[in-house]
Amino acid sequence: MKYNYKNCKGENNFVYRNPKIENNVLEFFRSLPPHLIKFPFDIYGAIKTRSNFSVHSYQKYAKKHNLTMQDVVAFCESNTGCIFKQGKKYMILYNNGEFIVLERKLFTLTHEVGHSVAEHFRFISGDRIAEQPDESITDELRREIEREANHFAANVLCPLPYLYMTSPSSPKDIQTAHRLSEEAAEIAYRDYRAYERSYNMKWHNAMLRILTGVDKPEPNPKRIYMFS
Ligand SMILES: [Zn+2]
Repeated sequence: MKYNYKNCKGENNFVYRNPKIENNVLEFFRSLPPHLIKFPFDIYGAIKTRSNFSVHSYQKYAKKHNLTMQDVVAFCESNTGCIFKQGKKYMILYNNGEFIVLERKLFTLTHEVGHSVAEHFRFISGDRIAEQPDESITDELRREIEREANHFAANVLCPLPYLYMTSPSSPKDIQTAHRLSEEAAEIAYRDYRAYERSYNMKWHNAMLRILTGVDKPEPNPKRIYMFS
């Protein structure tokens, strides 16, 4: 789980890099039907293409199981969302409360999908990944897992190669085009300004080919596995 965070020149780069997750992002896009490869990204639609995934809001889950919201938050050990795995099936729960902006909810859903795509369940003994410390893993590993899921979400909702191509002039441009929160758009803009495509030219070009329709997605059992 250790990665080299240096850029191609061997300099420390403040933009977090993770080749494994970036390849997961590429495979994820390749596994989608073409109509879903556009921005703002429809993560809900992407999840709906997977028969082994279910998504429920905390609010509906509470009602269905006759629980209070506090029960569900405690069950998930998170105020925003979590993902469960049972056999080959995944269930994502997310807080659909009015006090959480839509953009944050979409980021949470994508983050939870990231946990499955990056196969994080291999590292934990339980059936759930949440924000709170899990006794089966170290704090360092938990932070790494969360960082990987965030990196996945950021690059699915707002891929750096795509920003490179579209050249946004401000965080506001990104916020509108990618439906990110103000905070997430500012981070994406900062990362875009520091982005060096030479860091991984092969990935950069492959991402642009799939995102612009030059390469057609090719769902196959191996790729579906990435999201199963
Ligand atoms: Zn997480």
